[in-house]
Amino acid sequence: MIIDTFYIVLGQLLVIIAIIIVILFIIVFIFGKYLVKIEGNYFPKFILLVVDSLYSPFKTISKLLKMDEHFIDNIAIRVRDDINKEKFKKIPAEKTLIFLPHCLRHRNCPATLQKEGLNCTECGLCSIGVIKKKAEPLGYKLYIVPGSSFVKKIVRENKFKAVIGVACHEDLNQVMMLLSDFCPQGVLLKKTGCFETTVDVKEVFEKIDSKY
Ligand code: SF4
Repeated sequence: MIIDTFYIVLGQLLVIIAIIIVILFIIVFIFGKYLVKIEGNYFPKFILLVVDSLYSPFKTISKLLKMDEHFIDNIAIRVRDDINKEKFKKIPAEKTLIFLPHCLRHRNCPATLQKEGLNCTECGLCSIGVIKKKAEPLGYKLYIVPGSSFVKKIVRENKFKAVIGVACHEDLNQVMMLLSDFCPQGVLLKKTGCFETTVDVKEVFEKIDSKY
């Protein structure tokens, strides 16, 4: 009898939790659509808290509904970008790291992989060299990393206050979440994949120049 009651209560609890998740998903969906049209006038911290906490269930719901697979990541990236934009601008370049993904490199890249990532020689074959040439003289520290384990290592070994990340949707969202205490600013790859990806260099420069 007690066991039956326990299972009934448990079942009801699960149904209530599922309903709450669906309601929150609808709210985030509406804000996500609305976000494209407005600047700043919403509840970014609430949206971010909900998306971060319910990331996996939300991804599952979007998949079940055959929605854009990047919808949830796009919202999180955009909101985190907005929240941190003004604070990011005030932090000097010397205290800002830039993470570029390894996959941006050209197939004939002569650079070698070191313990802190790829050692770009600015050979001119890909956008990494272009970004490096602009960012480093301004004081930014730039890292070309093959994965999040490198990011974690660099974060442990550096003193910094802000970060610019370039990556595909999921990776960028994960890195911005991981580095949420460092005013993260994100730029999505224009062409994703594991090899010879591309980024809009102008967009990266806009982030770099936003401090001046
Ligand atoms: S610019 Fe740098 S990363 Fe790009 S191909 Fe040349 S050495 Fe490699």
